[in-house]
Amino acid sequence: MAVQDLGRLDGKVAIVTGASRGIGQAIAVKFAEEGAHVIAAARNAADLADTVAQGDGRIVGQQCDVQHADAVKALVDRATNDFGALDVMVNNAGVALQDLLVDTTEADWDTTMNTNVKGTFWGVKFAIPAMKAGGSIINLGSITSFAGEQTSSAYVTSKGAVLMLTKNAAAETARLGIRVNIICPGPVDTPMARVYFEATTGSAERTEEITRMYAPLTGLIPTDDIARAALFLATEESRSMTGSSLLIDGGLLASWDHIES
Ligand code: NAP
Repeated sequence: MAVQDLGRLDGKVAIVTGASRGIGQAIAVKFAEEGAHVIAAARNAADLADTVAQGDGRIVGQQCDVQHADAVKALVDRATNDFGALDVMVNNAGVALQDLLVDTTEADWDTTMNTNVKGTFWGVKFAIPAMKAGGSIINLGSITSFAGEQTSSAYVTSKGAVLMLTKNAAAETARLGIRVNIICPGPVDTPMARVYFEATTGSAERTEEITRMYAPLTGLIPTDDIARAALFLATEESRSMTGSSLLIDGGLLASWDHIES
């Protein structure tokens, strides 16, 4: 059954980082379909064209590397200067490296932390003063905010940190009418997940089998399912939620005994 677009974000202004593909693109397009003006950001500005094209005139693209404070501040300034407000900030940009801990270089550790943790920190920090009428900040965690893996220590550490950043920011901003929540997906059908699983499994077919084992309800989760969760967190439908985690994992963390090696 198709979910109807009801104008649930009419007149709202949103920023979505990491919006050139995958989860961020799905969120940006969903928000625009629901009436928001969206600033979509990524490092490669040319890659944002596809997202902008799907926005029916309500998505603008802006080059931004979230590792850098000035670039994230420029997104927030564009929202307030060009659109008059900032209502929703989605800190989605992220990178995932799969190395074993003993093979992780300082450069890889720093890139992961600077993108996933510091990038989210800048997004939260600069959004708060811009949300003068209250607002919703949505961070992207992962099932690895709650459980480790047999590789990817830097990534897992970063997503654990984003969970606690979310909770602390929620505690600091509740009195300002700003809500800060985190979406924690299992395996979502994006380029990031395909690269990850196909490097491990060796083929698209084996990836389907393995992800169905990991996430027995869904296998690879459609990006639209994460976008609809973001829409819920962006609107008044979630008005009593802050510091909360939405785990969307197709049943992955419901038990431990459905995963075979
Ligand atoms: P993806 O397909 O690799 O897309 C990542 C997006 O982030 C791209 O638009 C990329 O564009 C952008 N990006 C990367 N580094 C950036 C930076 N420093 N500054 C600005 N933009 C940057 O990833 P995805 O699978 O959609 O994942 C999105 C988020 O969900 C991530 O935080 C990820 O950790 C989380 N997540 C994903 C899954 C999954 O299974 N896919 C599961 C759990 C959590 P550029 O390269 O042009 O910058």
